[in-house]
Amino acid sequence: MFKIKLTCSAIILYAFTTFTVHSTTNNDKNISTIVNQHLQAIADPIKGIGAREAGSAKEQETINYVENRFKAMGLVVSVQPFTLPKNELVSANVIADLNIDKKYTLILAAHLDSTGEALGSQGAIDNATGLAAMLTVAELLANKKALPYNVRFIALGAEEAGILGAKHYVKTLIDTQESTNNILAMINLDTIAGGDYLYVHSAHTTPYRCGDISGSYNSEAHIRDALFNISKQLIEPKQQYIIHPAYEGYPEGVTGSWSDHAPFACSGVPIAYIETTNFSINGKDGYDGYSQSEHSALWDCFDSETHSACDRKKETKWGHIWHKEFDQLSTMEQLFPQRITQQLTATVKVLVEFLSTFKVVNTTDK
Ligand SMILES: [Zn+2]
Repeated sequence: MFKIKLTCSAIILYAFTTFTVHSTTNNDKNISTIVNQHLQAIADPIKGIGAREAGSAKEQETINYVENRFKAMGLVVSVQPFTLPKNELVSANVIADLNIDKKYTLILAAHLDSTGEALGSQGAIDNATGLAAMLTVAELLANKKALPYNVRFIALGAEEAGILGAKHYVKTLIDTQESTNNILAMINLDTIAGGDYLYVHSAHTTPYRCGDISGSYNSEAHIRDALFNISKQLIEPKQQYIIHPAYEGYPEGVTGSWSDHAPFACSGVPIAYIETTNFSINGKDGYDGYSQSEHSALWDCFDSETHSACDRKKETKWGHIWHKEFDQLSTMEQLFPQRITQQLTATVKVLVEFLSTFKVVNTTDK
């Protein structure tokens, strides 16, 4: 039975170490090699899988790939299938625990599906980038059994079909004795390379429409801020995280409910959401971060003075790098040499640092 999550102040104190910059044993080259292997295996339609629409054989192939990788790392792995209401096809979440016997859990998640091949996408940016980074972080943390908490890696199915995997996962938690009370944070990785800049967000201060997910909506920003601070210390300026400025409907640094973090925030879990985009562009619906790049190839015509389309009535492309023909590794590498590798390496470094140094002080256990 689900219990409303207690606010952290009385029961759980979160703290972060005042860390110094570590000379990591997993250097940038090592990280980029691992992350690129996963990226190719997931998004390359010839050497790997390619487009993997929810419920398709290709999505299942991705589920198998992720499950096998997690098992090879020695994690405790389970596959959680669910049915897509629209067409009765089956998707699944792949869940892998680092230290399953610990009381508290930090979740790192990325969706494993993509839009279908019919739209021209191979799901490279959205979201092989997030999935590859998550697998790399798991691999780098696989021997950290001494951490005082569990790290749970979740590859979520059917995000593009309506955030179905995340909703199923959260509802299942609420329906079981596990509940969300002991989940300290959820970090969502979606489209984390390819866009012009790296951003980190917290949940919107106005609660999302949570539907049938019950809980005490959580818009705390401490996970976002911790990731932001780590990026400032570890990462060179070009790939440091940005907190987006306030714009109409979206106060500074908060995000909408359009990705897998939303059901978690609804159930009371503090979230952070990492993505690449460009909030300085005046896109189709204003400054909402839905135009990811100023690169002229991604626009019918981009006006660099107004940071918008030359002709807002005629523009059809709007600088979008996901869901359609630009969402392919070869195209993106041509447009932005080395960008994907550099952005993914930066995020892997930040996440490894965050997940290795998080401190939980549980006053009720004393
Ligand atoms: Zn996505």
